[in-house]
Amino acid sequence: MEPVRAHITTYGCQMNRLDAELVAERLRASGARVVDDPAEANVLLFVTCSVRAHAEDRAFSNIGALKARKRREPGLVIGLLGCTAQQYGDRLRSRAPLVDVVCAPGRLAELPQLIQAARTNRAAPVVALDPPRGATHTQPDRVGGAEAFAAADAALDEVETRRPLGGPSPGHAFVTVMRGCDNFCAYCVVPNVRGPERSRTPSAVLEEVRRLVGQGARQITLLGQAVNKYASRQDGRTCDLAGLIEKVAETPNLARLRFITNHPRAMTERLAAVFRNVPAVCPYLHMPAQSGSDAVLARMKRAYTASEYIDRVAMVRGVRPEVAVASDFIVGFPGETAEDFEATLDLVRRMRFSHAFVFKYSPRPGTFAAEHYEDDVPMAEKRRRNQVLLDLVRKVAGQENRRFIGRTVNVFVEGPSPHPNLHPEKGTGSFSGRMEKVPVPFSAACRGWLQLRGRTPGNRIVVFDGPADLAGAEVDVEVVDSSPLTLFAHLAQAM
Ligand code: SF4
Repeated sequence: MEPVRAHITTYGCQMNRLDAELVAERLRASGARVVDDPAEANVLLFVTCSVRAHAEDRAFSNIGALKARKRREPGLVIGLLGCTAQQYGDRLRSRAPLVDVVCAPGRLAELPQLIQAARTNRAAPVVALDPPRGATHTQPDRVGGAEAFAAADAALDEVETRRPLGGPSPGHAFVTVMRGCDNFCAYCVVPNVRGPERSRTPSAVLEEVRRLVGQGARQITLLGQAVNKYASRQDGRTCDLAGLIEKVAETPNLARLRFITNHPRAMTERLAAVFRNVPAVCPYLHMPAQSGSDAVLARMKRAYTASEYIDRVAMVRGVRPEVAVASDFIVGFPGETAEDFEATLDLVRRMRFSHAFVFKYSPRPGTFAAEHYEDDVPMAEKRRRNQVLLDLVRKVAGQENRRFIGRTVNVFVEGPSPHPNLHPEKGTGSFSGRMEKVPVPFSAACRGWLQLRGRTPGNRIVVFDGPADLAGAEVDVEVVDSSPLTLFAHLAQAM
């Protein structure tokens, strides 16, 4: 049998991107090659997201498009991994008949064996699912069941601890601090597909951070679905996220530390204080509000009101005023009236978000909302609200970005800009993604410079011309212009 050449396609959040890294590491350790070109692969893997119908549909449609190739190459193995795999389980066969391997997020460490089994026996798909959890959206108080995930978590920890630095950009690495979620927000499948909340021990997290920083990481992002609920209990003592951050920040040579995603309900004064007391912590808080209407928030089972959300942001900005706050919103949630939507717009105006992701509600099977609420906001109205909210987010973000013009900011350089030749004066960096193509200025081009992309401590995107070998470094730049999504700058020191 010829060796495995695997290609990985990833959908969804940072958790999925980290899962894809772990899959790649696990496959390489088993002797497989991970290839960039899907045409070269004999194993095609899809790390899926089932939080939004759109991401799920895209994965199914891309798999469906492989029908002709699968006929030509009967040995081709198609694997569906992650949240959608757990969500559909055995039923996947009818939705995606081409799939040979179905692997839940907690079972990714077993992937090489699953692929091997699928290559040996082509009769039926090989399915590896996480254990069903005790709690459900109708009985969210019956949390627990973490023990059932212990063996799979230990295997994942081992893969995560071994993986080489190769994160989202040079010098930047994601580190899982907790898995699963117990919140059961009415619209969300994550508690079903990723299981109960399990916090990794501080020692496991610290070991991983030290190893990654030792390999050259300067920026670490700690990941959890509701990361500020982190609580590791050992020897009768509990370490919370603030305690973990203090320990992680002691790692020599670690320059920047972030933690995402935060649940407003779990934001405490103790955690807010790390924005002031721990220099490595970036002034960036991703804390989804989802709606500005108390009625909608109650139906979403988010367990806070709009004014409580405002208070939590004020608490953080009270200790560090420059903290950039980013949010997520769902528009067209069942029962969302024009007044409810207006309350969301109000919240955006008041909170001055640096960025916000906006999604149109779609019912997800197995969630409280799908089973108990009528999806009663027409799609045309969802689209309209989506656009109105995006326009407002863009306007506010644009105003906030303009305040940076003329300032010198420190930038962590990610590498060449993925949309090279962004022009500072043509309204680029827009949410619609329309770009004006202009040449790199002659003076920069003749020095062999590229347009680079980096991030401020507050996670704002900055583009500027510079040498490619700055990737992974921190530099000071002078901001000369801005758009809602991007700051345009020059290197502060001549090179
Ligand atoms: S906090 Fe709510 S939205 Fe976030 S993962 Fe958990 S259930 Fe889903």
